[in-house]
Amino acid sequence: MRAKVTSIETARKLAKASKCPQCSAPSLKPHTPFCSRRCSQLDLGRWLNESYRVPAHEAQDDADLDAMLAEADKDTDLS
Ligand SMILES: [Zn+2]
Repeated sequence: MRAKVTSIETARKLAKASKCPQCSAPSLKPHTPFCSRRCSQLDLGRWLNESYRVPAHEAQDDADLDAMLAEADKDTDLS
């Protein structure tokens, strides 16, 4: 009755077999999970670009706020 000790070995094999998310080349140790510094920089740039899209949602919220303010103005006209 021995506990399984293969989990760490399996994890290491999976880590070895992992591929670069950018170009699907085998990942290399200093840059894991990427194959090179270039691919890690590309991924970082992609994330930064996606974060820059967030203000677009805020702009849409502002448009909704303007509509709500316009409704509020109508209500004050009635009184
Ligand atoms: Zn790569």
